[in-house]
Amino acid sequence: MTQHFIVIGNPIAHSKSPEIHTLFGAQAGLDICYQRQYCPDDAASFTAVVEAFFHGGGMGANVTVPFKQVAYECCAARGGLSEHAKVAGAVNTLLLDKALLAKGVSPVEALYGDNTDGQGLINHIKRLGWPLNGARVAIIGAGGAARGVVLPLIEAGIETLTIANRTVSKAEILVDELSTASEKINQHTIQTYATAALSGDFDIIINATSIGLSGETLPLADALNCQYAYDMMYGRELPFLQHFAARGAQTSNGYGMLIGQAALSFERWTGRAIDVAQATETLQAHSFKN
Ligand code: NDP
Repeated sequence: MTQHFIVIGNPIAHSKSPEIHTLFGAQAGLDICYQRQYCPDDAASFTAVVEAFFHGGGMGANVTVPFKQVAYECCAARGGLSEHAKVAGAVNTLLLDKALLAKGVSPVEALYGDNTDGQGLINHIKRLGWPLNGARVAIIGAGGAARGVVLPLIEAGIETLTIANRTVSKAEILVDELSTASEKINQHTIQTYATAALSGDFDIIINATSIGLSGETLPLADALNCQYAYDMMYGRELPFLQHFAARGAQTSNGYGMLIGQAALSFERWTGRAIDVAQATETLQAHSFKN
């Protein structure tokens, strides 16, 4: 029987998720149908779309901009949230809590939210062979993407974490909120800086800003160095990566993170593990270019 999945967003036409999950389905030998779902940008419409989909037998959904926080609220009021979703304050994966379904709860009331974005990044960095255990890590950016990776980075055993942002007050607020949300994070001292004031030597620097969309470049200090530079964006030339590549760093864009978070969603829904390296190779060769 065909299993149905959707990705809900606005806009949604650009989403690569259907290609990625269709490939995963083929790799796992499952009959799946994964479609883009446009939704008007308001909470009531989002809830209506989700309820109709899961009442109609849907198995799982991804959530993208601008609905990750709305999805969080939706699940908090129903079947619950994973620790990663709670700390991120955002949901990118909707599934049904099987234990609640077994008790006779309706699909809508069994709606459970997870967030696989951060772990998708960690898994990609591990596939790249970059050492995380004991690493000195800096994140540039203090928005939703940065928020989602802090707990997975700490769980991966990093030594120090620094967060820099154009608006330094937002980085400070983020650290306060994360420290309140998670004891694991609270046990770490996280330093904050304005982006232009960030300097020194790091093992890994992660660009979690959306600056790549604007064509502007980040103001990076001359005395800022790293061995590995990661940009969460993908699909275009990224000045952030060019800057550190010219200084001898290994670099990667966020394409592998995109595949990685999708693989984790797929595994949550179907219980089937994905060979991410093989899927990435196939997608790069056929469906879309890096
Ligand atoms: P948000 O809008 O929540 O945050 C944007 C961040 O970028 C803020 O820290 C903001 O700083 C900073 N920023 C924006 N413009 C500039 C600029 N001109 N100069 C300096 N800083 C700037 O976005 P998200 O956190 O949701 O997403 C960030 C990036 O991560 C996006 O490019 C997104 O595509 C990517 N991403 C990739 C994923 C993947 O799978 N590869 C998954 C999730 C996200 P300030 O606070 O000062 O405004």
